Amino acid sequence: MDISVVVPLYNEEESLPELYAWIERVMKANGFTYEVIFVNDGSTDRSWQIIEQLHAKSNQVKGIKFRRNYGKSPALYCGFEQAQGDVVITMDADLQDSPDEIPELYRMITEEGYDLVSGWKKKRYDPLSKTLPTKLFNATARKVSGIKNLHDFNCGLKAYRREVVKNIEVYGEMHRYIPYLAKNAGFKKIGEKVVHHQARKFGKTKFGGWNRFFNGYLDLISLWFLSTFGVKPMHFFGLLGSLMFVFGFIAVLIVGISKLYYMHNGMPYRLVTESPYFYLSLTSMIIGTQLFVAGFLGELISRNSTERNKYQIEKTI
Ligand code: UDP
Ligand code: MG
Repeated sequence: MDISVVVPLYNEEESLPELYAWIERVMKANGFTYEVIFVNDGSTDRSWQIIEQLHAKSNQVKGIKFRRNYGKSPALYCGFEQAQGDVVITMDADLQDSPDEIPELYRMITEEGYDLVSGWKKKRYDPLSKTLPTKLFNATARKVSGIKNLHDFNCGLKAYRREVVKNIEVYGEMHRYIPYLAKNAGFKKIGEKVVHHQARKFGKTKFGGWNRFFNGYLDLISLWFLSTFGVKPMHFFGLLGSLMFVFGFIAVLIVGISKLYYMHNGMPYRLVTESPYFYLSLTSMIIGTQLFVAGFLGELISRNSTERNKYQIEKTI
């Protein structure tokens, strides 16, 4: 099979028939063999009935129905698990992404050898409250992930080589960082294609609110931390802890020895507890020890984790 289209959706009943008709038109015009996997993320409207109707009419339509709303990432994860196509395309259900982009995305993966091609909504039809923070978000994600050529990490329209989706685990709200997940899994050829974007035709956005930016940044920090120190927490905490401890220890020695020196020579001296440096070094030693212990606990946890020997093996012969 050439292409699997994975569509996560939450309450998008009005868009679905039009979306599927459009995808079908593009696929037929280009002679692709394909499947469309609709992942119904606990919709409370008639989305699922519509998917059933589409399935009855065309056996390219597959559906996964969640019992409740879990979020876009879990929906993508389950869609990826099912996907059989050589190229997997993800697309939002709200008709903001255009199925007309599919042939070119497919070509970039199969002919130009990309592992992942992300859409770039260069001209966006969303309110300013969405586009402005997104700019900031993308700049940070570019810096932290080291994927310098991407402008739009969170674009719903993306194409993947099948191995990529089978080897990454999109969980929580990590759909914003799929290119970073792919890079961490060892897929390096990540590209971008400018795509058309349209204003939402029906319903309203499922990702409103400001807290998504804080959550987004926290997720980015976790990802960065996991990918750099996840399997060796001691290298982070242990180093920091040891440095702080040594610094505190030396400082407390200086405070103590200088007091003894003054005392011995009959000069006026201060009690160690009168020196501010004493408290600084004490705190530094305590925090240092705690960081060290945190690193050690992290090491113990990672040693017991089932993930500890999960490596990406590209080939064995
Ligand atoms: N979506 C989902 N589960 C959710 C929230 C959203 O499957 O909990 C789907 C939604 O139906 C749409 C896609 O994710 O197909 C993108 O959502 P939306 O269009 O609301 O995001 P925006 O384009 O405003 O960023
Ligand atoms: Mg949308």
